[in-house]
Order: sequence, then structure tokens, then C-alpha cells
Amino acid sequence: MIEVRARLGRTRGYDPAPIDVPPLFQSPPRPLGMVRWLITKYMWPQSIAWIGLAALMYQTVTPGLDRFASLGLDDVALLWLRNTAMMLVIIGGQHWWLHIRRGQGTDYKYEERWLAKGRKSFLFADQTKDNMFWTLVSGGGIAALYEAIMFRLYANESIPQLDSLWAIAAMTFAVFWIEGVHFYLNHRLLHLDPLYGWAHALHHRNVNTGPWSGISMHPLEHLLYLSLPFVFLVIPGSPYIVTFCLVYLMISPSPSHSGFDRFKLGDSIEVHGGDYFHNLHHRYFEVNYGMLLLPLDKCFGTFHDGSLEAHQEMKSRRRASSEVEVDMT
Ligand SMILES: [Zn+2]
Ligand SMILES: [Zn+2]
Repeated sequence: MIEVRARLGRTRGYDPAPIDVPPLFQSPPRPLGMVRWLITKYMWPQSIAWIGLAALMYQTVTPGLDRFASLGLDDVALLWLRNTAMMLVIIGGQHWWLHIRRGQGTDYKYEERWLAKGRKSFLFADQTKDNMFWTLVSGGGIAALYEAIMFRLYANESIPQLDSLWAIAAMTFAVFWIEGVHFYLNHRLLHLDPLYGWAHALHHRNVNTGPWSGISMHPLEHLLYLSLPFVFLVIPGSPYIVTFCLVYLMISPSPSHSGFDRFKLGDSIEVHGGDYFHNLHHRYFEVNYGMLLLPLDKCFGTFHDGSLEAHQEMKSRRRASSEVEVDMT
């Protein structure tokens, strides 16, 4: 493993075993294995936690639908305050434990170095403060605006709505798959010029990421990334599902960008933490645009599993495309 790290250009930090696609996408496909994978690796514990967190937010601190029949700025502001409080607790909690208290040291940390301070490319010359600014002001604000718009449409019964609890539960599960497509498409678009330079480069300044890097994005990227709830303009959804979409989009990138592959909870308990698949995207840019649940990168030849072979493949793709550019000039 040390030799692989050195040849990947990294000499320090934790490298997990190479990533495999989920059982349904292996050959031959293993549907039963997929069910097990979904329950033990995908839903537990993080995805279940996002569904529960969204239910808690929706039931306890989200204003009732009647309030949105005539939409006002104060309603958007209330949702923004809710988003800010939620992110300070959940994202800030992870940052405090992992990066300030350094509760598990560098165990399972992808990079041994800590987050940048004194670097001019970040606002306030501080990676954490910069990331918090974009996350709370732009991310939380645009999420609040989108949620208020959808609530207004539900309050006025202008869009189709599910009424059975079972249908809402099934659609909540479907959101993970819909986001697999939505994220791949908007992320791939953001890597094209000039959108990359205008917007997405801001997220990619974070090569070594922390919990606040997850949705540290340019407002233009937030407009695209947070637009998932708008699929429910055409397919039946519910106000809870809209809240769930936005809670999921705001919170799930915090463990995935935490910088730690696993979280140690006490001496003997460890849970899945970071997303190695997306961490490789932050290291190498032109691989792993999508999500592992729906590995579209496998179809489009941009899948990097962290192995030396995948790395050599990526390098020959880069060489081939630069040769084409040279030929054309
Ligand atoms: Zn990212
Ligand atoms: Zn990217």
C-alpha cells in the first residue's frame, strides 16, 4: 500500500482498499447482494440519519404550509435561520470533534495535513472561515428560497402531491437515486468552461477537505446543486420530501468531505465516515463526477477506484486528450 501511495504522488494519509461498484452493477449483477449493500452500507447509518433529521426539522421547526400561501421574505428568513442553526450544530459538531478537538488524531484521515490557515486564496485567509461563509450565507440562503417556493406551490395546490404515507416513504427512498442522476448531470456541466472557472473552481480550492467544505460552493453552483426539489414540479411529491431533499443536500456532504474515512466513536465503535470515491474527485478533478450508489462514471469511463491501475488509466486518458489538443493546434 505504501508503494501505491508513493506512486499516486502521496506519501502520507490513509488510503482505504480500492472501491468496488455496488453489487447490482457488478458483472454478473447480484440483486440480493445489492439489498444487503443498501441496508448495511448505504442506508446505515448516514442515509437513515438524514431521513430522521429531515423529519425532526419538518415536524418541529418548519413553519406550517398555510403560512406560505402568500410568500414573504420573513418566511424565507425563518427557513434560513433554521438551516443555519442546523448546519452549525451538525456540520460544526463534526468540525469541532475532528478538526479542533482532534478527537481521533489523524486516524483514518485521508491527508495528514490539517486545514489551511494563512492562505490568500481563501476568504479571510482561512479555509474554515471561508467554507463556513459560502455554506451558511449562500448555501443556507438559496436552500431556504427554494424550499419556500415549493411550499408556496403546495399551499396553493398548484403541483401534484402524494397523500399516502407509504408513497411518501417510497419516494423518499427514490430521492437518493434521482439525486444520483441530478448530481452527475449538474456536476459534469460545472466542469465545462466557462462554468468551471466562474463557479465550480471555488469548491475545488478544497483539495484537502473538511466538514465545512461539503457545500462550500459559489452561489451559481448552489442554484444548480440545490435544484433537486424542482423535479417535484412534475412528479408527485410532498412538502416533507422537499424538506428532506434540502436537508440531505445541505448535510450529507459534511461527513463525505470530513477528510476522515471512518469515525471512531469510543474505543471499539467505528462508523463509515468520508466518501473515498468523492475524495478522489477532489484529488484528481477529472474522475468520479457522480455518486457510488449509481456509478455513471463506470459507463462514461471516468471511474477511479483508488487503485494503481485506475490511476494509470486516468493518466493515459489525460495524455491522449492533450495529444488531441496539440494535434488540433
Ligand atoms: Zn466536493
Ligand atoms: Zn468537481
